[in-house]
Amino acid sequence: MEGNPCESCNRPMHSEKNHGGGFAGNPYCDFCTDGDGNLNSFEEIRKGMVDFAVSRDDIGTREAQEVANQHLRKMPAWRHLYEAE
Ligand SMILES: [Zn+2]
Repeated sequence: MEGNPCESCNRPMHSEKNHGGGFAGNPYCDFCTDGDGNLNSFEEIRKGMVDFAVSRDDIGTREAQEVANQHLRKMPAWRHLYEAE
């Protein structure tokens, strides 16, 4: 069975342990949640995404922030933050 993508970062969750807290019913992945499966703050998740993009794609922080915003504004967990702008 194909797992649903995380509603915060769109990462595919293939097994229960990929879900936050190890709960299959958690719509967020283990990357986006703390050990208990609670969703981390928007700033933490965006920072993690920016740091990851900078190291992986060899781009500047500003460009990485732009990429992260493009991505996050489509996600169910965060799009309301962008709609408020
Ligand atoms: Zn996630």
